Amino acid sequence: MGRLVVVSNRVADPRKPASGGLAVAVGQALEASGGLWFGWSGKVVDNGTPGEGDLHLHQAGKVQLATVDLSRDDHHSYYLGYSNGVLWPVFHYRVDLADFDAGFIGGYRRVNQMLAQKLASLLRPDDILWVHDYHLIPMAAALRAMGCQQRIGFFLHIPLPPPLILATIPHHEWLVRSLFAYDLVGFQTKADVAHFSSYVGTEISADVLGEHEFRAYGKTLQVQAFPIGIDVDELAALAAGPESQAMEEQMRTEYSRRRVLLGVERMDYSKGLPQRFKAFRLLLQNYPENLGRATLIQIAAPSREAVDAYATLRQELESLSGAINSEFGQLDWMPMRSIHRNVARKRLPGLYRAAAVALVTPLRDGMNLVAKEFVAAQDPEDPGVLVLSRFAGAAEQMHEALLVNPYDTAQTAETIQLALQMPLAERQRRHQALLRGVREEDVHWWRQQFLHALAATQP
Ligand code: UDP
Repeated sequence: MGRLVVVSNRVADPRKPASGGLAVAVGQALEASGGLWFGWSGKVVDNGTPGEGDLHLHQAGKVQLATVDLSRDDHHSYYLGYSNGVLWPVFHYRVDLADFDAGFIGGYRRVNQMLAQKLASLLRPDDILWVHDYHLIPMAAALRAMGCQQRIGFFLHIPLPPPLILATIPHHEWLVRSLFAYDLVGFQTKADVAHFSSYVGTEISADVLGEHEFRAYGKTLQVQAFPIGIDVDELAALAAGPESQAMEEQMRTEYSRRRVLLGVERMDYSKGLPQRFKAFRLLLQNYPENLGRATLIQIAAPSREAVDAYATLRQELESLSGAINSEFGQLDWMPMRSIHRNVARKRLPGLYRAAAVALVTPLRDGMNLVAKEFVAAQDPEDPGVLVLSRFAGAAEQMHEALLVNPYDTAQTAETIQLALQMPLAERQRRHQALLRGVREEDVHWWRQQFLHALAATQP
């Protein structure tokens, strides 16, 4: 196999533990092939020229990191405007939150074009390219226009919506045509593949050559589901580390007389936080034995605060949690703690282990790694229970979780109560089955499946 080139919006140093499981998995493949990781540097240049950015090269062990700065204009239109103001909401079914400002698509195209140009100058003929996520959908088309003939695969980390939702985007056909410049497109779930198949069948009359093979625009494309996993060993190592153990101890002391319900996410409207808070309020109303006993700890890590919808969400959450605390709180017990701060990865496993129940109830989610991390971090002798939204990609794999419809707050409250009362033997049985799946289909399995499928495509 040739050198692996990974292209993603952000680039991480795979040697740094804070980078997470994806960086570890991709980093291993990059190291094995002396590969290159290319993307935005994270730097925004205030007086930079749109469509231009400096290229920086660093060596991280055997892996070369190549990053490009963005001008303020490009960051505004490509990153905030189109990627996170159009693609993120629509792909998560929130058309109501999309801002179809005509100026954004220009920035999205311009930055992809600029990144492709910088990348092309670094490529070798036998490289294999793996492009990640919604920021970079047109990357292969831009590279092909410059004459690149290498194998190029694409993986979408977020969901692909059904055709009529996708079709709300003014340039939807251009986006899908851009996907046909790849040799392989990977989605998180079979549901996403079905949406793609249905879109290309109805909107562009592509030829369906097989379950995973489509032909349109003179190009044959392989499409398959590759559900992303976590690095179980990395998580186990973090769980055994001093920071995680201190966190667990601190939580167990602080909440020795309580049952902890836990939510951990970036504060994002796709995560179903208002609905979760309302379900918790209903739990306290309908099952008063939880008063003074159950505490919901919600980590809502700051995210994309420059996008309007995120600031509105923060206000809504603060008002909901304030109302719940003042309605149900007692002198020695507050029902909710909602914390608008990031918790370091090395401390998270301790938090997962101290929780009786994890609430992973997004309205829509590509996969949701927190669900898998929670399972991997549990003590198998006394595991916590996972309450999981049926609309998270993870629900296609994690059948032994307690699945809920997060829009149905009554059902969610009832399911949380079930989770709080689940007998030990059932908790162990469910956890064992879940852990087996999380181990078998881990992030290394995911990477290998994708790269094997890419290597098997006809260039
Ligand atoms: N995470 C973290 N600290 C936090 C909140 C989240 O390190 O305070 C990590 C979490 O461990 C997980 C990732 O961020 O690995 C979130 O991934 P997920 O797929 O659940 O959601 P996304 O943020 O990608 O939508």
